[in-house]
Amino acid sequence: MSKRFIIISNRLPINITKRRGEMTYKKSAGGLATGMASFYEKYESLWIGWPGIITDKKQEKESIRENLRKEDMVPVFLSRREQENYYEGFSNKTIWPLFHYFSQNTIYEQNYWETYKKVNIRFAEALLKFAKEDDIIWVHDYHLMLLPHLIREKLPASTIGFFLHIPFPSYELFRTLPWRDDIMQGLLGADLIGFHTFDYVRHFLSSCRRLKGLDHDLGRINWEERIIKADSFPMGIDYKKYHGSGLKREVKKEMSRQRNRLQECKLILSIDRLDYSKGILQRLEGFNKFLEKHPEYREKVTLIMVVVPSRSRVESYRRLKHQLDTVVGRINGVHGTIGWTPIWYLYRSLPFNSLTALYNIADIGLVTPFRDGMNLVAKEFIACKRNGKGVLILSEMAGAADELGESLLINPNDIEEIADAIYHALQVPEEEQKNQIEEMQKNLKRYDIIRWANDFIDTLIQNKEHSESMLVKSIGRETTEFLVRAYRENSPRIMFIDYDGTLVPFSPAPELSKPDKTVLQLLKKLATLKNCTVVLNSGRQKDTLEEWFGSVPDLNLCAEHGAWLKKAGENWNTIETLNQDWKNEVIPILEKYAERTPGSFIEAKDYSLVWHYRKADIGLGEVRAHELMDRLVALTANLNLQVMEGNMVVEIKNAGVSKGRAAQEFLEKKHYHFIFGIGDAYTDEMLFQNMPDNAHTIKVGFRATVAKYRIKSYKQVRELLQTVIKEGLNEKTT
Ligand code: UDP
Repeated sequence: MSKRFIIISNRLPINITKRRGEMTYKKSAGGLATGMASFYEKYESLWIGWPGIITDKKQEKESIRENLRKEDMVPVFLSRREQENYYEGFSNKTIWPLFHYFSQNTIYEQNYWETYKKVNIRFAEALLKFAKEDDIIWVHDYHLMLLPHLIREKLPASTIGFFLHIPFPSYELFRTLPWRDDIMQGLLGADLIGFHTFDYVRHFLSSCRRLKGLDHDLGRINWEERIIKADSFPMGIDYKKYHGSGLKREVKKEMSRQRNRLQECKLILSIDRLDYSKGILQRLEGFNKFLEKHPEYREKVTLIMVVVPSRSRVESYRRLKHQLDTVVGRINGVHGTIGWTPIWYLYRSLPFNSLTALYNIADIGLVTPFRDGMNLVAKEFIACKRNGKGVLILSEMAGAADELGESLLINPNDIEEIADAIYHALQVPEEEQKNQIEEMQKNLKRYDIIRWANDFIDTLIQNKEHSESMLVKSIGRETTEFLVRAYRENSPRIMFIDYDGTLVPFSPAPELSKPDKTVLQLLKKLATLKNCTVVLNSGRQKDTLEEWFGSVPDLNLCAEHGAWLKKAGENWNTIETLNQDWKNEVIPILEKYAERTPGSFIEAKDYSLVWHYRKADIGLGEVRAHELMDRLVALTANLNLQVMEGNMVVEIKNAGVSKGRAAQEFLEKKHYHFIFGIGDAYTDEMLFQNMPDNAHTIKVGFRATVAKYRIKSYKQVRELLQTVIKEGLNEKTT
């Protein structure tokens, strides 16, 4: 059976109204529904969500279920109490304010959280009744952040995308959430996590790293044998619909009606849902200031302010409504005249035709949210401008500001700046207005809602394929059997084995990585196997290796990534005579970085210098590491040195030294029939690259590699080596 496409969001794109026992269904024409429509053509599709109506009647639920099924929708019913605690409570009194940086409005209530979890499970159950592993599942928004993980638990191989329609806050705010770990785990169930802007991606990745210690590589996180991608997809609008609105007869009629009413007045337009994140009060104060500073504009401008009622059951919203009424009254009272009302205030939702008529005729769009995931009003205003007339004043805190760079960007907290921007917008010459609008329209037209949705799904599928291709190489039972057979049938043998991250876990504190009894036993047994040369191939200094492994019989040791070699029964030797004068030039630079980056330190090895930042703040360490790399690359080019960035280290060493070079020392002197190499780090890649084609190379972990196979962690490495030992011991006794 072919793939299906399943969308799951808090609300279904339908309005159900009940009048005198009779239900009427009206599909909503919102942006998201338009974006999803293209998938309805491509795949067998389904949309799961709350139908927007509360009922206890079994029969009524059944009838809604049946009717929605015809529209490829599945309802998830919620009780009044669940709606209060999950939607109004956790979603809108905890997550919404916190993610919009309104920590003063954030309520932490255990009850809300419990219901949020319960409802997320309910959504998951509804989905699992229909979903299969090869379906594509797209989860939307902050109401359902636990869902990706809940689905993943039951359908481990499924393709899950998650898109957050609001900002993702900086770690400093996110960390205050008592349930941050659960939310993080919930999101990480997805294969692709989408945000409106790159800033939100950065914040998310930083929280992943700080809370879960998960590193990323260009937005890709390796976790639980999956590669999860975080990326930005700025949501678009139905451009054609808005751009074409001015051609509709009804809209034209409405436009001339409004224009007549306004007479010669310039029109400033402000449209939002009632929400404290929208900066409506400050915007009004900005307008007030403008009238104070420029009395010549009295009776010459009108601010139409449309405020759409929203979340009126939540106390902070009711309070805001009250404040708004007061401020509008005050400004109109102070500045108004008999024939002129400065602010036309509409507290209601406008239908599409009236809304776009206003977009079409407005001279200035005034959009000043304190925080906004995207802000579609700003985009719609620009899209409607067919005559090239109009100026957009836009808050730099709106996600849309990234794409609408030709607008007048302001700081929404700066009332003076808002006032000055209004004045400035009234002076912008028509030619300039036209150029700016055309430039912005180009972007909006190209990356519209359909393109946005397709881009997200294409990336989701690609990332899934990428993730699977990485996993194909994973070592399972069959590969282990294959390797053991190869070992049995081919002799002589040689095995190159890395230490940190391969035989023991990688540790931020190197002193914790001392070999335990198991590792020592394992190496002892391995090194004494018949016809098998074992080389412990490490980046550590020779003295450390000597102390830890010097007494293991028949074990070959290779230190400092191949600078030093101790063949079994011999003494330590360098592979080549290496020049060390360069160190005097490099040390002062590293010292400077060590001083400027608390927690970082320098390790001076015989043939290399290493700057470690695993004990420093990760973010700072990374920034400094990049700076340092830049400086060193320029300096070292003519010194025949190699600068490498590894796992929280920057290492500088002679170009001729590598684990691959050390391996050659063995491979050139004798012909081995079974060649085995295993390691986790960037330096092991050199080993893999330098090995003959028939070698069995294994990467530990999920980073990019040229090795033939992958193995999850040091634990599995130990198991694999035990199996080899068993085979080798068998050989001895038979
Ligand atoms: N909107 C509407 N009627 C109105 C006012 C607004 O249909 O009277 C629509 C508007 O076209 C836009 C959406 O509501 O698509 C508001 O989206 P935005 O991203 O600006 O803010 P949000 O409400 O999602 O925070």
